[in-house]
Amino acid sequence: MALMPQSFRTRLVVLCGGLGLLIGLPAYLYIDHVYAQRLLEDRGEALHEQAVAVAAVIAENLNERRREVELLARTPLFRKAPLDSVEFQPSLERLQKSYPAYSWIGLTDVDGVVRASTGGLLMGADVSQRPWFTGGQKGPHLGDVHDALLLSRLLRPEPDGAPIRFIDFSVPVFDDSGRLRGVLGAHAHWRWAGEVLQVLKSRDTDRGGLEYLIVNRQGRVIHPERDAMPLSLAERLRTQPVVIDRWGGQTEYVTTLAPVRDIVPEAPLGWQVVVRQPLHTVIADVAELRHAVLLFSLMAGLTLCLLAWWAAGRLSTPLEHLALQARRIEQGDESAELAITGSTREVVHLGEALRSMAATLIHRREALEASNHALEARVEERTAELARLNDELREQARRDVLTGLPNRLAANERLREEFVRMKRMRTAYAVLVLDIDYFKRINDTHGHPAGDAVLRHVSGVLRGALRESDFVARFGGEEFLILLPATPLNDAVAVGEKVRCAVESSPTAAVGAVTLSIGLAMADPTHQDEDVAVRAADALLYQAKSAGRNRLIGPKAA
Ligand code: GH3
Ligand code: MG
Ligand code: MG
Repeated sequence: MALMPQSFRTRLVVLCGGLGLLIGLPAYLYIDHVYAQRLLEDRGEALHEQAVAVAAVIAENLNERRREVELLARTPLFRKAPLDSVEFQPSLERLQKSYPAYSWIGLTDVDGVVRASTGGLLMGADVSQRPWFTGGQKGPHLGDVHDALLLSRLLRPEPDGAPIRFIDFSVPVFDDSGRLRGVLGAHAHWRWAGEVLQVLKSRDTDRGGLEYLIVNRQGRVIHPERDAMPLSLAERLRTQPVVIDRWGGQTEYVTTLAPVRDIVPEAPLGWQVVVRQPLHTVIADVAELRHAVLLFSLMAGLTLCLLAWWAAGRLSTPLEHLALQARRIEQGDESAELAITGSTREVVHLGEALRSMAATLIHRREALEASNHALEARVEERTAELARLNDELREQARRDVLTGLPNRLAANERLREEFVRMKRMRTAYAVLVLDIDYFKRINDTHGHPAGDAVLRHVSGVLRGALRESDFVARFGGEEFLILLPATPLNDAVAVGEKVRCAVESSPTAAVGAVTLSIGLAMADPTHQDEDVAVRAADALLYQAKSAGRNRLIGPKAA
């Protein structure tokens, strides 16, 4: 999967490219193989036809030479004139001029002695053992290529020093009564073959290393000069018109062969024309076609890929746009527009679906946010209410119901606070514990409600007599506690006395005057806790009771 590119676009392009390759490659291979085979066959056939044509031209040329010599032998001069006539030489030379390949033309008598010749060469020479003479006595004779013997010394040598070679044409010369008078023979220079083939070849524009060879009956290559044809090749060519062979090297040749028609059936030459062409030039066209097909395939593939790229872009661009807009919405940008126009129907539908989904989600989120806000407000409200109730409860828990004064719990807390502050600020405070004298008797005499009324009355008096900053609480049944912050002992004693007097001097209608006994103690930073001062004041209160009540007793030093 890692090898496969992730984007839709690249995937489509790779897919198209792969598909193109999948279709194009077999077509390419098919064309390469089948076309090459067919071309090879066609070319082989053409080469064979060419070999046949070349063989025909050679045969025709040989035939022409034979007829020339034959016609000359039948002229009246040859039939009638005495063999020592001076007429012969010009006649022979005319023929030689008409066809420059003739190196030598001569006339012999019946004994094989040369009686007339071109250039007067070999005059009087005995050629009775030469095959052209012996053959020519019996009828038209065609002699295979051979090196010049007698003439080799008389003729101009070959430029490369190679032996001069001839083919021979000879015919018997008869007189009017049909008696043999001699033999007319012509040696054609072997370059004749080269000239004939050259004419054919140049007409064929010397295509791609084409070679024409003439092979004689013995398998010798008589033109051009080269090694003999292997027997195996000759064998194969006997059964197949065209073969591929490596005769004479490493290059493979498409080789074909055609026999040269024999001009003189009595003296058959058995020549064959071999035409061959290097295989690589034969199939050069295939290589060209292969390149063209390859180029075309590549161009088609590339075009396909580009089209795919473009088409995929048309599809994926709106999708990428949608994804981008969706991402923007995700990041909180609700102004992002999910609409798609001018794209395929499915993508437009997708855009619409996404937009309506986004709208629904946004709407739901807003509703949720609104309900959250409402909930938060309610929770806040309830929390505030609860705090208020808590405060109320706290207040109630610390207030005495009967007198409205702070109760013992509140007094303990205030004592604790004051003790902590004193420790920090080093300012002493005074604690007074007050108890109504003979209160039980009041209850007993006037009833419990009257007792309650006295308690409320005393509370009011105490509150009135004290400053705002002082603290007074109902500490027990008919006991009270006064805390005087930052107050020295003397002042505290004065306040205590003031309070005691205020209560004593304010009788109630129902019960009359009541009195208080008071114990006073000073809190000290050395105290272990706030209770030390309270206990001291309590103890002094009992001393005051014991001492006769309606009095204040403070620390010894006072
Ligand atoms: P002493 O001078 O020694 O303080 O004598 P006393 O009678 O005041 O002392 P004692 O502690 O024996 O009596 C206190 C009485 O106060 C007992 C109780 O019935 C009464 N009392 C306590 N709380 C209340 C209350 O809330 N209302 C009424 N009416 N009476 C209370
Ligand atoms: Mg008491
Ligand atoms: Mg009392």
